[in-house]
Amino acid sequence: MIWHIIVFINIIHRTIAEDGHCACAIGNVAVYREAGRLETQFSVIPSGQCVQHRDELRFVTLSNTTWTSLEYAGQIGFVDSNMLSPEVWNGGCPDRSQSVRDVPNQCPRIITRQEWGARPPSHLISNLPATPQYVFIHHGAGSRCFTESACSDKVKSYQDFHMDTRGWWDIGYSFVVGEDGNVYEARGWDKIGAHTYGHNSVGIGISVIGDFRTVTPNQAALNAVTQLIACGVNTGKIQTNYTMQGHCDVVRTECPGKSFLDILNTWPHYHRPNGSYCPPFDESIQMK
Ligand SMILES: [Zn+2]
Repeated sequence: MIWHIIVFINIIHRTIAEDGHCACAIGNVAVYREAGRLETQFSVIPSGQCVQHRDELRFVTLSNTTWTSLEYAGQIGFVDSNMLSPEVWNGGCPDRSQSVRDVPNQCPRIITRQEWGARPPSHLISNLPATPQYVFIHHGAGSRCFTESACSDKVKSYQDFHMDTRGWWDIGYSFVVGEDGNVYEARGWDKIGAHTYGHNSVGIGISVIGDFRTVTPNQAALNAVTQLIACGVNTGKIQTNYTMQGHCDVVRTECPGKSFLDILNTWPHYHRPNGSYCPPFDESIQMK
């Protein structure tokens, strides 16, 4: 149903717009305020999304990298030209970023515990007793992050909070996802987590960094979540007929936030159980 609507909207675009000169993201592409990797990063173009060039397109070469200026998320930014593939498109530029949900064997890059600087668990943690049937979605409920270094710091702060304040043996989640488009290994696929009280031995817990009660995670983070789950299914770490639920579907909490839940409600494996503690959906989201 959703795809039909998207196709229909694309047809309308094509009849209105002229040929578009598009720059399509090869992988999740960082967007900086100025040319150069040390400049402030303000967004990420998700893999497969194409951005239309206009006359203001310009190039800057620094060291051996050519930077392309483009408008993204309402702001002018710079991206590494090697991360873009130019395409001429009859009409608006295509957005294939959602199609990662359909790419079966693609696993996202997972930033290992060593890479983000994890502390070792305080005790030996048991393995999940069986391939999990559930995927529980969480949010971190604090501030957001858009770069690997900022998101690594957030993951470390979650681990410190869970171990030092909550007294858990390790960070509670199975994985953490940032709006930098990266997946961060927490307890990983095989260990029992501490994320969804009463349900930890039957599911994995994925937490997106940020507070998503009134804003949704960006497309880079949503893509990373769907890619991670597809990867889990294809590597036998999650049941193929898995059920996705928000934390509040089974525990009295606001997590993972109403705006995020409205998105999850449009995803095929999401199921709201009877007795859910989550707020009612904004059903109009399904029509977008
Ligand atoms: Zn939660």
